[in-house]
Amino acid sequence: MSTADAISPDSDRPWATPGAWPVAPGVHRIPLPLPNDGLRAVNVYAVETADDRGRSLTLVDGGWAIDESREALEKALATIDAGVGDIRRFLVTHVHRDHYSQAVALRRATGAEVALGRGEETSLRLAAEGDAVRRVMAAHLADAGSVRTAEAWLAAPADDEAETWGLPDTWIEGDVPIAVGDRRLDAVHTPGHTAGHYVFADAAAGLLFAGDHVLPTITPSIGFEPDTRLGALADFMGSLAKVRALPDLRLLPAHGPVTGSAHARVDELLAHHEARLEQSLAPLEVGGAGATAEDVASHLTWTRHERAWSSLDRFNAALAVMETRAHLEVLVARGQAVVERDQGFADAIGAAAGSLPGSDPVSGVPARYRRA
Ligand SMILES: [Zn+2]
Repeated sequence: MSTADAISPDSDRPWATPGAWPVAPGVHRIPLPLPNDGLRAVNVYAVETADDRGRSLTLVDGGWAIDESREALEKALATIDAGVGDIRRFLVTHVHRDHYSQAVALRRATGAEVALGRGEETSLRLAAEGDAVRRVMAAHLADAGSVRTAEAWLAAPADDEAETWGLPDTWIEGDVPIAVGDRRLDAVHTPGHTAGHYVFADAAAGLLFAGDHVLPTITPSIGFEPDTRLGALADFMGSLAKVRALPDLRLLPAHGPVTGSAHARVDELLAHHEARLEQSLAPLEVGGAGATAEDVASHLTWTRHERAWSSLDRFNAALAVMETRAHLEVLVARGQAVVERDQGFADAIGAAAGSLPGSDPVSGVPARYRRA
């Protein structure tokens, strides 16, 4: 059986099997369908609370706003004698559509409060502008040496779902405790997968609602979001260390089965990135013309199946290049590599974000990396 179908101990079934699976007293894991099958499903977690209107629920993450997901959520909640009208609040781990969009959609229907990390604000505002995201992503891809992919990105049809990108009611800032009924969830800022990603730790119950920061069977994408920062991977590794410094909690991930030890998985993820850093250093030379991120990505193998970069589809090839660039930037930050980058990239990003008169996002010279 592939890890995509791994058995979750709460359901004793493949983890994406529909239902409301009890992971701890008063906490239910609810896998919801996605429009594409790559990740199988997204887990949202329903935490029971009580308020003056009786039983109520806080949901960690909301799912992707599609009819099938809404139906699956209603069916799952019915099995625990609840409904979407009982949802008072969504704590959303990050801005990606499979986590955030249904929270916003259900807010309209239920009046529930939506809370999201402050660090997502730039991505959210860019996404609401539609075309700006394509221009920013194209500029990043061109900087990484993927000019043809950048051009294809610019030519792709525009996102017509800007209305799913409403702002949250509450921005979560810093590391703060959040009262959820009688529980205390510690909101811990874990930038990396996105700039404003949060995990929520319930130390008393021994649970870590981990979003996409710590996933049990895959590594989260890094460096691929509208508000892409060159330091995203360094942030991510720092955020893994931050979770390692918490007590060791059961891992409740957004994709995949519940597992026993968040620390064990954090250690594997850190080891994975150290190995990738070494592999990314190998193709670099001292001096010479330097290598672009795409050059380096094409020397590495991808996915657990060790596929050649040239065999990936356009979207995954772009993900691979952006992740490679994130590794190269860590090598630069560690003093193991040097980078030469012209002003064209900064100008194109500024133009897309509206601070400069329109410059062509793919006209800049790609950044080139050499061994230090
Ligand atoms: Zn996700």
